[in-house]
Amino acid sequence: MSKYQHLIDSFMKELELKNSHEPEFIQAVEEVVEAVIPFIESNPKYKKAKILERIVEPERVIQFRVPWISDSGEPQVNRGFRVEFNSAIGPYKGGLRFHPSVNLSILKFLGFEQIFKNSLTTLPMGGGKGGSDFNPKGKSDNEVMKFCQSFMTELSRHIGPNTDVPAGDIGVGGREIGYMFGQYKRLRNEFTGVLTGKGINWGGSLIRPEATGYGVVYFAEKMLNTKEDNLKNKIVSISGSGNVAQYACEKCIQLGAKVVTMSDSKGYIHDSDGIDTEKLSWIMNLKNIERGRISEYIKKYPKASFHESKSPWDVKVDLALPCATQNELKKEDAKLLVKNKCIAVVEGANMPCSPEAISLFIENKTLFSPGKASNAGGVATSGLEMSQNSLRFNWTREEVDEKLHNIMLDIHQQCVKFGKQEDGYIDYVKGANIAGFVKVADAMIDQGIV
Ligand code: NDP
Repeated sequence: MSKYQHLIDSFMKELELKNSHEPEFIQAVEEVVEAVIPFIESNPKYKKAKILERIVEPERVIQFRVPWISDSGEPQVNRGFRVEFNSAIGPYKGGLRFHPSVNLSILKFLGFEQIFKNSLTTLPMGGGKGGSDFNPKGKSDNEVMKFCQSFMTELSRHIGPNTDVPAGDIGVGGREIGYMFGQYKRLRNEFTGVLTGKGINWGGSLIRPEATGYGVVYFAEKMLNTKEDNLKNKIVSISGSGNVAQYACEKCIQLGAKVVTMSDSKGYIHDSDGIDTEKLSWIMNLKNIERGRISEYIKKYPKASFHESKSPWDVKVDLALPCATQNELKKEDAKLLVKNKCIAVVEGANMPCSPEAISLFIENKTLFSPGKASNAGGVATSGLEMSQNSLRFNWTREEVDEKLHNIMLDIHQQCVKFGKQEDGYIDYVKGANIAGFVKVADAMIDQGIV
């Protein structure tokens, strides 16, 4: 047990009292304070300025009603949110999530994580997150448009290219960003970079759709390099089959690895021959155009199997990339991965591994990277989209990809700087949290008590 445990416990006790109905937020804060409190104890300027106490309070939380009318003519109502967490190093930046599970706890956890992730990218972006409990699944395009327009009607009062720049997340892809951008433009009569993840013909950046998944795999390769290894011929399990999972799979294939699983909320498919480029493009069409279920894969590729209501962590692999959602990989799953001698677990989703699972990886010296480091390529490329919008100029695919690659290497280096242990093991959780914290904390001190 750390000699700082009593300080961590008393900080967490206070936080839990104030946020007792927000378990995901409490979980996200605990991961950060466990890493940062020992660092603060040896750097008293942060303690004196009460940075930790201030950084866990969002600068602003906005909650609003989102009324809309379904195709059958019935009035509907959802809850909309935007958590503007921290603007010390730049405008609030973070995605919008549309999923029935969305509540304030989930958005505060995501917004809090975003502060440190955005800081790690080296770009000037503060932390924020938003969304709604609206479920786009099973809705017509017209209903999704009606909802997005109503959501943006209120959100537009609070965001702007120099204030707060939302992007996509679960349930919010190119279609939703398009409808929201259209409504913002109509209300404000301004064509600006107020959202990222835009279409390529109207202000989007090349590589933005691919960026999170590609970045995860660039980061994974770098982690393996620390053990004089690489992705070639590695067996990989991926969870999820959405944006992050699809492009993580694509980059794994490009770097010579074999991806054997993908999933959705109904279960996972296992294809021991590997998901190749042709099979992946079938999955992309299924998920992005037909909006179907991953179970349909076995009808098309009968040698594969479908495992209903299960996650893929019982499959023996060299590398595991959880790319679906929070808390999808628990202690029992971690035990199986460790037993099967998995070399590295690299988070593509936000907080997919439970704290107990993470502890087990670290105890067993399994390489483990938290999402705030390994999935930061998405928001980094959103930052590059903002730069291109301000320049009114587009970089080529190769230019954006190179910048993304360099940013991932830089993040890796920062994790090594603060996370390398005496025995050479890299504690990426510690490294990412301290590196992300320092830049924001220094900016908060410079800007006074605001
Ligand atoms: P998508 O909506 O494109 O895909 C989400 C995937 O996760 C789907 O396959 C979905 O399955 C699955 N999923 C969702 N909820 C659950 C659940 N409760 N159990 C099992 N599977 C589930 O989202 P993204 O790919 O954009 O996001 C995935 C993760 O990555 C999230 O944690 C997000 O915050 C994070 N992230 C995303 C970034 C981005 O640029 N998009 C950037 C950084 C992080 P189903 O279709 O059945 O719902």
